[in-house]
Amino acid sequence: MSSDEFGLLLDRLTSAVDATLAMERIMSTLRQPIQLPGAQVELQPHIGIVVSIGGDETAEDLLRNGAVAMHRARLSEAGYALFDPEMHADAIRRIEVESELRTAIEESQFILHYQPTIDLRTGRLTGVEALVRWQHPRRGLVPPMEFVPLAEESGLIVPIGQWTIKEACRQVRLWQQEIPAGEPIALNVNLSARQLRHPNIVRDIADALDDTGLLPSRLVLEITESVLMVDTAATLNRLYELKSLGVRLAIDDFGTGYSSFAYLRRFPVDIIKIDKSFVDGVATEPTSSALVDAMIRIGKTLRLETVAEGVERVEQADRLRNLNCDIGQGYLFSRPLPSDAITGMLRERAANGPSRANAA
Ligand code: C2E
Ligand code: CA
Ligand code: CA
Repeated sequence: MSSDEFGLLLDRLTSAVDATLAMERIMSTLRQPIQLPGAQVELQPHIGIVVSIGGDETAEDLLRNGAVAMHRARLSEAGYALFDPEMHADAIRRIEVESELRTAIEESQFILHYQPTIDLRTGRLTGVEALVRWQHPRRGLVPPMEFVPLAEESGLIVPIGQWTIKEACRQVRLWQQEIPAGEPIALNVNLSARQLRHPNIVRDIADALDDTGLLPSRLVLEITESVLMVDTAATLNRLYELKSLGVRLAIDDFGTGYSSFAYLRRFPVDIIKIDKSFVDGVATEPTSSALVDAMIRIGKTLRLETVAEGVERVEQADRLRNLNCDIGQGYLFSRPLPSDAITGMLRERAANGPSRANAA
């Protein structure tokens, strides 16, 4: 690097640092509490910054890019963001996927797969978790991780979730009717934060149960620990409203959030689902094993059902059984499967008893 280049780089670095310091000063000034008669208010400023480099952008371009940077600023901790062209490409992609998701809702492009849960002591199939997939006309089967976060952000998870609950209740009711000799199974459905906050959620779930004839006691709503930690008073009310329908509640991904013993006692939960990240090491790492042991003990103390997620190996299932965990879910027992594959599994179990899958 020549000394000229070095000088230029140093200049740029210095001006970047200066700009950051200036932004921090602006933000902290804007965040100063303002005293109004009878109340003190605090602003939460978000600033999108766009710099004209070549000077050939139109005013419209600059405003649009500023809006894109502002959107990013809302998501950032700093509260401000400088536009870069990548952001624009990203924003366009999101808008495209969002519009495709709207079409997907209109054209019913979603399907459900179901993953069995297994009683670790008896091998009985205790239930299924409904997991949504998107049958994209070009991309094939899209996993939830690639569209659920965007669906949550845009609110589209609400109509998608309405369909999911209704469809899953319909399917489980159908299994009960078609395979009357089968074991009674529970249906687990995931609820995201956005769905839980929606004013119609309780009515939608009540309607799904009424319309399909599934008993409320068969339905388990899974809510992640992180959802329980925000806005606790409103969340707590909502959970009691849901409970009054007669459904059960499970804490999903248990151990990854920050719920304390006190929270667990306050929330009307029935089941904890121990996150896969702890189950991974349960048979091999003393720390994971001790943590899983502690979680199961907490569960037992509070009379909650304990479920281990992501069980992939026999040694994990053995260890979990020894630790007194009630139920296992994971590839060892079965991957999530389309409904007709579950129909076959339920028929076979009704004919032969549960012992075969227990040997998995
Ligand atoms: P989750 O609720 O924690 O679901 C369990 C995920 O772990 C599923 O991924 C499942 O296929 C996967 N899994 C189960 N056993 C094993 C295993 O032994 N090994 C490994 N490696 N993975 C295992 P999937 O179906 O891709 O779903 C991912 C997430 O998407 C779910 O995590 C859930 O948070 C969300 N999701 C899925 N369906 C819905 C839905 O209908 N509504 C909402 N709101 N979220 C959903
Ligand atoms: Ca789940
Ligand atoms: Ca989970």
